[in-house]
Amino acid sequence: MTSLDEQRALVAQGCRVAAARGLVDGVLGHLSLRVDDEHLLVRCRSDTDAGVAFTRPSDIRLITFDGGAGADDELDGYRVPNELPIHVETMLADPAHRAVAHLHPPAVVAADLAGIAIRPIYGAYDIPGARLARGGVPVYERAVLIRTPALGRQMVAAMRGRPVVICRGHGITSAAATVPQAVLQAISVDALARMSLRVKAAGGSLRDIDDADWDDLPDLGPSLHTGAAWRHEVARLPAD
Ligand SMILES: [Zn+2]
Repeated sequence: MTSLDEQRALVAQGCRVAAARGLVDGVLGHLSLRVDDEHLLVRCRSDTDAGVAFTRPSDIRLITFDGGAGADDELDGYRVPNELPIHVETMLADPAHRAVAHLHPPAVVAADLAGIAIRPIYGAYDIPGARLARGGVPVYERAVLIRTPALGRQMVAAMRGRPVVICRGHGITSAAATVPQAVLQAISVDALARMSLRVKAAGGSLRDIDDADWDDLPDLGPSLHTGAAWRHEVARLPAD
């Protein structure tokens, strides 16, 4: 069990990685991590906030599931995101959803608006991404600000049990057991969207890889793959 401060640092790191990969711009987008049955850590805003790319561990605050301060002073000078229901409803829907990333990746939004579904168009290029796409990346068709529990539940219903949902004209929500997994899933969906747009721009058409190829696209396992991939993401972050 890691300390609360270590968890704050991990969520802040996740925010910076997502921004460094172009999955969020400016001040919009947030990550969260469930702490227990009543509390979560979430990226908050403050008057000294310089944007998601510059998230500090101190920007990650402990709150209750109903948006109140999780301890004394936790919300002094900090504002909980309007879209907190995205995090809370995603966590309540499945105890395996400990980490939630809500991001606004332009390539994913553009691909969806262009009518392109996220499909397994490649294989060994990015096996975790291909497998994620094979299982489906559903779309929540409303472009609304998800600021009520009812809208949060509507988005979760649209996820249909999958780890990532695209919010049309808005962004994505990625849920996983850990912060690195939630962010890496988002990076994979963004890579699929970018490649899809690139193929289309080159005049090509998109089609799923052959069914026969799946036998030789093994699940690399989260411990092996996520560990190495996350080290890379952290290493390529701009120096503080
Ligand atoms: Zn949003």
